[in-house]
Amino acid sequence: MVDLINSERYIRLSKSCIGEAEKNAVKGVLDREFLGMGKEVNEFEEELSSFFGRTTICVANGTAALHLALQACGIGNGDEVLVQSLTYVASFQAISATGATPIACDIEPSTLTIDLQDAERRLTKRTKAIMPVHYSGGVGELDKIYMFAKKNGIRVIEDAAHSFGTVYQGKRVGSIGDISCFSFDGIKNITSGEGGCIVCDDTDILNMMKDARLLGIEKDTQRRYKQQRSWQFEVKAQGWRYHMSNIMAAIGLEQMKRFTELSLRRQGIARQYEIGISNFKNLKTLNNNYHEVVPHIYPLILGEELNREMIQTKLTEYGIQTGIHYQPNHNLILYKDDYSELLPVTERIAPYLLSLPMHPELSGNDIEYIINALDDIIN
Ligand SMILES: *Cc1c(COP(=O)(O)O)cnc(C)c1O
Repeated sequence: MVDLINSERYIRLSKSCIGEAEKNAVKGVLDREFLGMGKEVNEFEEELSSFFGRTTICVANGTAALHLALQACGIGNGDEVLVQSLTYVASFQAISATGATPIACDIEPSTLTIDLQDAERRLTKRTKAIMPVHYSGGVGELDKIYMFAKKNGIRVIEDAAHSFGTVYQGKRVGSIGDISCFSFDGIKNITSGEGGCIVCDDTDILNMMKDARLLGIEKDTQRRYKQQRSWQFEVKAQGWRYHMSNIMAAIGLEQMKRFTELSLRRQGIARQYEIGISNFKNLKTLNNNYHEVVPHIYPLILGEELNREMIQTKLTEYGIQTGIHYQPNHNLILYKDDYSELLPVTERIAPYLLSLPMHPELSGNDIEYIINALDDIIN
């Protein structure tokens, strides 16, 4: 349809949604001229702790959250961590940063979350943890993952980067379980510019991470929140510069006030897509309940007779940006030598994944336009 193609529209795959309140909050921090980790970070942590009902600590980004959680569990050289291959490379890099080996696992075809039976086959004496990735916000069979971890004495470090706000079995992701790591990068369910957080109940782990995010300086967090600094201190473990700044936390605090609005909009968009896409016999959507799942992305699984590149190019002509989440990690040069075994579901599905635009500022009309464009291109 020519009039569709000629439209002035450009629909972004994702974007940060920033209002006047976020801008004013940043200006407030700039005006006070205390940009580092202090009052705002402390407040953001308190806000998140009450949101999850458990202690939450903030860090520079979601990858740092995963890295610190793994390190605090004592995971390092010679250890193995089970993780799905179909994830952002951040999950793999966080594991290899500790010296441990990410063991690529296959996925469930209906949710693209880790295939537990496949993971079980890859368990060895060196396995120290499993890292379920809550792909697109859905958590798969998280209860079974916890049963498996308990039975085998391994830790669960949830890569919950996509799932801020998702509810599972009546509870928020992060409010139960072992350790959950979230990302607040610009396009995640809520943002603090960059940023991330770790939610957990284990006091020892929490204290280790608090020190490790500030170069391992013991109790520096507590001093900074009292507007003091540690001039004389002790360091007993490897640490990093992974703390959050007040500028970031100020944005995060404002986004928390909008959490209900932002998450309901994401869910509404997903349900509108779901209804529209259900009329296409060669397109599949994930099996998620969008009254519970807050989706970060909206991937389609194309029928094998369809050509992804062609569809992606055509959609661009309609002013619609799309994405690919993700190319599998086990084929990347850094990781591929570690695997001889194949990942059949991952290999079969990955070339047919195509993500449609998903962010809270999309209108109902935008979604309708995208579905009509797909109809023009495919049917
Ligand atoms: C975004 C993301 C991360 C890392 O978060 P950053 O804040 O970008 O470091 C980790 N895992 C997945 C699956 C992600 O999408």
